[in-house]
Amino acid sequence: MADCIFCKIAAGEVPATVVYEDDMVIAFDDLSPMMPVHTLIIPKEHHANIGDDVPDELMGHLFNTVKKVAQIKEVSESGYRVIVNTGDDAQQSVHHLHVHVLGGAPMNSGSP
Ligand code: 5GP
Repeated sequence: MADCIFCKIAAGEVPATVVYEDDMVIAFDDLSPMMPVHTLIIPKEHHANIGDDVPDELMGHLFNTVKKVAQIKEVSESGYRVIVNTGDDAQQSVHHLHVHVLGGAPMNSGSP
């Protein structure tokens, strides 16, 4: 989708620190990390958010990629938080579906 920053990252037009990639999804480190580990996983196909009409196979694959990213970033054992901001009240700022994987330090209820 034109003018979508995450579509441009998925297409390799904008640089990112890629953690994992396959034909359906790409995971890359957040530009402004809120935790020592802060990786975003996105479908390569443009969908605005989790409320969009995302095919089951793609949605399943997106969430199955979370554990792969957790292993790569070495937070599988220590634990991690998964967040999907959706819409204005959640302050979704990039309108391309993305899953935040956060970890690398202890969190409390006030953590992201
Ligand atoms: P949201 O608030 O929409 O859930 O999260 C969007 C996230 O994307 C933010 O944490 C922000 O730092 C990150 N982000 C925005 N633009 C870029 C970019 O160009 N590259 C990377 N790697 N992350 C970005």
